[in-house]
This record gives sequence, C-alpha cells and structure tokens, in this order.
Amino acid sequence: MYEQYLRIKEDYPDTILFYRMGDFYELFFHDAEIAAKELQLALTSRHKGEFVPMCGIPWHAADAYFSQMVEKGYKVAICDQVEDPKTAKGLVKREVTKILTAGTVIDDANLESKLHTFLGAAFWQENAGAFAWLDVSTGAWTGVQVSKESELWQWVYKVDPKELLVASGMEIPELVKINGAVQLVYLNAASHFDLKRSEKRILDVQKVQELSALGLERKPALVRVCGAIVAYLEQTQKYVPSYLSAFEPLDMGKFMVIDEVTERNLEIFRRYDGKKGIGTLWHELDFCQTPMGGRLLEERLRYPYKDIARILVHQDVVSHFFDNPKKLQALRGFLGKIYDLERLSTRISVNRFLPKDFLALRDSLAFLSDIFNVLRQEDGALPTDKSLTFENVPEGLGRLLKKWDSCADIHTLLSESLLDVVPQQITEGMLFKAGYHAELDELIDIMEHGESRLQALLAHEQEKSDLPKLKMGYNRVFGYYFELSRAQQQPVPDYFERRQSLVNAERFVTPELKELESKLISASEKRNELEYRLFQELRVKIAEERPRLLFMAGLIAQIDYWQALAECARKKEWTKPVLDEGNDIEIKDGRHPVVEAVIGKSHFIPNDLIVNEKKRLLLITGPNMAGKSTVLRQSALICMLAQMGAFVPAAFAKIGIVDRIFSRVGASDNISQGQSTFMVEMMETARILRQATKKSFVILDEIGRGTSTFDGLALAWAVMEELLKRANGQVRTLFATHYHELTALENKFSGIFNMNIAIKEWNNDIVFLRKLIPGPADKSYGIEVARLAGVPAHVVHRAKELLVLLEENKEKSEKRVERVLLPGVADFENSEDKTNAFHKERETVANTAELVENALKENPILK
Ligand code: ADP
Repeated sequence: MYEQYLRIKEDYPDTILFYRMGDFYELFFHDAEIAAKELQLALTSRHKGEFVPMCGIPWHAADAYFSQMVEKGYKVAICDQVEDPKTAKGLVKREVTKILTAGTVIDDANLESKLHTFLGAAFWQENAGAFAWLDVSTGAWTGVQVSKESELWQWVYKVDPKELLVASGMEIPELVKINGAVQLVYLNAASHFDLKRSEKRILDVQKVQELSALGLERKPALVRVCGAIVAYLEQTQKYVPSYLSAFEPLDMGKFMVIDEVTERNLEIFRRYDGKKGIGTLWHELDFCQTPMGGRLLEERLRYPYKDIARILVHQDVVSHFFDNPKKLQALRGFLGKIYDLERLSTRISVNRFLPKDFLALRDSLAFLSDIFNVLRQEDGALPTDKSLTFENVPEGLGRLLKKWDSCADIHTLLSESLLDVVPQQITEGMLFKAGYHAELDELIDIMEHGESRLQALLAHEQEKSDLPKLKMGYNRVFGYYFELSRAQQQPVPDYFERRQSLVNAERFVTPELKELESKLISASEKRNELEYRLFQELRVKIAEERPRLLFMAGLIAQIDYWQALAECARKKEWTKPVLDEGNDIEIKDGRHPVVEAVIGKSHFIPNDLIVNEKKRLLLITGPNMAGKSTVLRQSALICMLAQMGAFVPAAFAKIGIVDRIFSRVGASDNISQGQSTFMVEMMETARILRQATKKSFVILDEIGRGTSTFDGLALAWAVMEELLKRANGQVRTLFATHYHELTALENKFSGIFNMNIAIKEWNNDIVFLRKLIPGPADKSYGIEVARLAGVPAHVVHRAKELLVLLEENKEKSEKRVERVLLPGVADFENSEDKTNAFHKERETVANTAELVENALKENPILK
C-alpha cells in the first residue's frame, strides 16, 4: 500500500494528496503533518520500519475539508479507488481522479455565487504578451494581447484571478503578488506555453478548423496563454474541457475603460482595505436575484458601455421595469426561484455533479415560462389578460422574448424521470420514478412487492397443480421453496424439483420460483446499477443540451441585470440620466451611492456639478474631511452608472459619453497597500497625461501630496497645466487639492473654475456644510479639523501660534512662487523650452523652500 501511495504521490509533489482507503481519505508523511495542522485533525502514526505520520477524514465529510485546504492556498489531489474492492485482485487500484485548485473549483460550496472566479494565464516575451482568463465554473473565457509589459500586469491586477498560470522563470511584479489573493502556478514554458502545441490544443477543444474562428489569428501570445489554460485543465481536472464556450478576445473598443487603479480608487468591488462586500458600489447595486445576473452585473461594472445606442437599449428596458412596479415584483419573485443554470450545466457536462443538481435544474426550468409570461404582460395584469406584443415592449426585451426557449422538453424529461427526493450519491439508487424505464419498474416492483409476488406464485401453483395445501417457506441454505407435507401424499408436477426430504414433509423448487428468488435477491443490487447507468444516460442527454441551457442562462442573466438596476433605482430613488455625444457633464443634486447608504440618505448633502466648455477643469479646494473626495468619486460613479444603462443617484444628470475614467489619489491615502506610494502616484499620473483623450473624465484627488510641499505644489501645478493643454483642453477634470496657491490659476488659464466645499465658522467652531460652491476656499481650517478630531486643547493652541508665524513667512515665499511659476511651462510651445522652463521652476521652487526653511530656523519660537 505504501509503495502504491508513494508511486502516486511522486507524480503530484506539489499537492496535498488525499488517499482513499475504505470509508476514509488518509494522508501520510509531510502531507499528514500539514493537513493535521490546517484542518485540526489528530495526527497519529503507524509503525512501518519507521514511524509514518498519518491522519484521515471520513469520505462523506470530505468535501468540506478539501475546500478548506484549497481556501488556505493548497492544491488538493484526490486519489480514489478506481475498481470495486469486492472484485479486486490484490491491492485495489487507485488513481488521482481530480486536483482541486483555487482557480478550477466548480462546486457552489467553494464559489462566491454572484462573482466570477477566474483562472488566468499570463505570458510575456520580448515585445508582446497576453493575458487570458477563464471562469471554469461557467466555461466563459476571454483575453487580451498587449504590447507593453506594464499593461499586461495592469490587466492581471484588474481582473484579479484566483490562480495565475505563468511560465517558470517569469518575473512577477510585487504589486500583483501583494494586492490580489492570487495564487501563482509556474508551468514549464516548453510544454504549456508552446505556440504549436497551444494552437493544436485550442483547435481540438473548441472544435474549430482555424484560429480566426476564435479571433486568435495573428495573436501568438494570446494563443499561448489559452493553450496553457487548456493544458492545465486537462492536467488537473482529468478531462478535455470541451464544454468551454467559444473563446472571444475582449474588444475594449466597445467599453468604457476603468483601469485597475481607478477601479480600486472608486471602491467598485473592494474597499480600500481590500475587503469585498459592504462599502462597495457592487454591494449597493446588487439587487440581482440569480447568480448569473450577479455575474453579469460584475462584468458590466468592470466594462460599462461606450456606445450610446447600446446604452440606450439597456436604459430603456431598465426604465420599463422601473415604470411597471408590479411586473417588476412578479418578475423578481420568479427569478428568485432560478438556480445557477450556468454552473449546473457545467457540472453536468464535466460529470462532477450530484443528483440534487438535476432537481435544481428541473425546478429552475419550471419557471422559465412564468418569466416569459410576466415579461409579456402589462403591469399588474393577470396571467389570463391580454399580453403585450413583442413590439410593445422595449426593443432590447422584445429581442430576447423572440428567442425565448422555455426548455419544456428538458423540464419534462427531468420531471418524468426523477423522484422528488433523491439520495446524496448516484450510486445508491432510489433516483427514478416508476414508469420511466420498464426494466427498472420491474426491479422496483420486485423490491417493493416481493412478498406479494411470492404469495401470488404460491396461489398460482396451488390452483394450477391442484395442491391447495402447498406451502411456501425460506431457509438460509436453500432459499425459497414449496413444501408439501407427507400427509398429503399427492403427486407433484414434473417441473417440481425435489430439494429436501424431511420426516414429515418434502420441499421443492420450480424454475419460476428460482427465477423469482434470484430476482428478489439481486433486485436491489441490480437496481442500483441500472439506476446508475440510466442516470449517466440522462446526464449525457442533458449535457447535449448545454448550448440551449447556456443560451437561456444568458437571457435570464440579462433580464436579472435589468430588473436589479430598476429595483435599485426604485429603492434608492435614483433617476434616469440623459446621455449625449457632447462633452458636458451636468449633475443636479448628485449623491455618492455608497457614502449615502452608509450614513443614511437623510444625512447626505447632495451637490450640483457642471463641467462644460468654460469649466473644463474644476479645481476644488476645502479642508480635509470637507467632502472633496466624495464629490469627485460620486461624479465618476454617476458617469459610470449612466453608461451601464443604470439610473443614477441624482435629481438630474446629463452625461456626455466618457471613453475612460481616470481616478488618482494622492499617495498617502494608499499607504496601506505598501507600495512606494509617491512613485506609484507619479507613475499613474504619467499614464493619465499620456493617455487621456478629449472624451476622458479625470478625477485627481490631492495629487502631489506625497512629497514636500513645494515639490508637490509644483507637480500638481504642472499636471494641471498639462491637462489643460491635452486634447485641446477638452479633458474633463475634477481636481481636489488643499494647495491654496493653485486657485490663483483660475485667472491665468481658461477652462479652470474654482470651487470649494463650504465651511461655516460659528461660535469659534467650524461646521462642514458639504456644499460645493463656486470660488476658492478662504482658508485651510486644518487646525479646526484637528480640534474637532479631539486633539488636546493645548496642542491646538500651540498649533495656532505656529501657524501665525508660518504664515508670515509664507507670504514672502508665496509672492516669489507666484512670480516664478505663473509664467508657467504653459507658455512654451517647444518641448525643449518647456523642459528648461520646468527645470528652472523646480530650481526656484527649491530655492524658495530653502529660503522658507532658513527663515523658520532663525525663528526662536521654533527652536
Ligand atoms: P475630503 O476628501 O475633503 O477629505 P471626504 O470626501 O473624504 O473629505 O469626506 C469625509 C467624510 O465626510 C465622508 O466620509 C462622509 O462621511 C462625509 N461626507 C462627505 N460628503 C458628504 C455629503 N455630501 N453629505 C454628507 N456627508 C458627507
């Protein structure tokens, strides 16, 4: 046994191997030590020349233990008995039947139902790379080919796969390792990422002749990563993943770009602290009733639309549900009954499912026609009322209804075959209904009516052979027999075979009795076997229907997405935004969807915001805690929601389509993520300055804060100037800063407009009014904020003293700063002059800083 164990383990060195022995999965050696610690199992040992550490888990509770190990970051290899121990000669044959890894799990217990779990693969060589990602549980996959390595990692960071396949030797940036909970899997480049092999693998599993059918022509790097994914699945899952949907590269031309940094700054899926759930936009929007709808919502949040016509199609349906509340509620009721059609179908296709999965499928399909009926009805109509025609519903919805497939035949097949209560395992029988299969009916009948059939046979014999005293009996040695007492002394028919002669009786069997007996004895075993076979046949039939099931899963997801946005809009009193091709943004009474939910609607102060030709760059000043970041983020979120086809948290919103949202936050806010923060901030800023177009929307929050005051000021200044020049000054920008000096720029450049968040001083106190108003903030109030925060009174007092002094010095230096900086780099067309001017500025700024510093040093109060 140990030999067998070690031989198998040798092939799976990087896994924790669970080795099936009877009713237990056992672990040995180092695996046992790890599992005992991680799963809190008792570690024992067996003596085999030396002590072998071991521990075990009962097979029926194994799944829970497997998932715990996967969650803790281990790969789990499951080694099963692959022949029947009863018939095995010698040691039972065992094989690893599957390997569980973080990115390949497909059972619900291990997956977040409304979010995708991705298995990714990344590759970079010389000047091309690619990243592909697959949701193994649904079979949907996509990917991008890139020409810059940094872009590759930005994608990885954004998609956030659970498991990432890379070629061994590849260098992975710290950022990827730190930020995601990603598990890296290093694979042999030659076997897994080889171009030729990958091509063959992809063509084989996707059953196509040409790579162009999958949009993979002339994308060698993408072919490699797709090939690696297929190879890895074959290797770990022990199946050919032919259930995967057709690969389709992600076409970012269709979508609004929200890069990975923006996604995190806007706290769309994760809060700053990295946690998911409450406090994120996703959480606030999730009114989905089905897992498929939830995952579609996730996808749209990552990639809102860019094309106005497409957005309006979605908006129209959302608004239709919004305007028909009874219909909406009825729809929500039925959607709530639908299980995860995609994942059910996958589990059935790859033969990793339990009987209850069939019931879930059956019960889900039962509601498809109800949903269809609700969708076609007028609001509040009874099912029998006149239905709407396809033309009377919004176009997007009508399109789906025309293609509706209620899968009635699949539903009938499942309901006619399966019992309403089925056992946990497929091998235990008791799955099928009477009437489904004649042979099975017979077996069931034998099992259920064995006794009465014996009695019937006896009665039949008594009558036929005229033996009214004939009796029936049973013993362990001879089984069932007929018995006739010697007193009867009657001749028996020929086919009565004598089995036993007793003093006062004789016992016989007949062929019929023997047959019935063997049927009775083996019925239960046969039934299990037959049911298993029938079950597998049923599985194959249902697996063949995967395309139809997936199609309907897609439709349900779409409907669920629309209704969720409508329900959200009703619950939170959001309004339908106006979208146009222009470049203005106009928001009246805008709110931040998450902050509002956290502090309560009645406590949130709504704000207006206008960005137009004259006010391209809003410079927003105000003390810390005033609400600058909130205004910035809510504006970006409103644009994003509008382009998802959703309603928005505002009384009115008009959004000129945005191609990309950039959001950057000054370094110190990001400190928890352990990056070289100022460097990262500047790299991100550089990206904006290179990539923003006239359709982009940029929000910059305290940019430049991560360095010394004057450095930061100069940088913030130069960044602003550059944004004003880029794309002919069309880039829509919200710029929040506490650098007062910048407000002076309003007079120097067109397009800048000063705004601030109102503060009221009252009884020596300050009150945050949270209102965005025109004009610069009049002072910084930092010390007042400190006092509000509970800094001891004497410290506040001392700070005020120091402030007076500092401001005296600052006035001098500010004058100088203005004089030097205001001519600005903006005045130079030629890039060389510009660079020189910039260096000169930097120098002067440094000198000024020195000047201030010296002045401070000389001041006795500071010593
Ligand atoms: P700043 O960026 O100016 O430092 P924030 O935008 O982070 O300030 O806001 C600080 C806090 O003030 C928020 O966490 C929120 O609780 C509250 N807040 C911000 N804006 C509003 C608002 N419009 N209405 C009510 N409370 C707000």
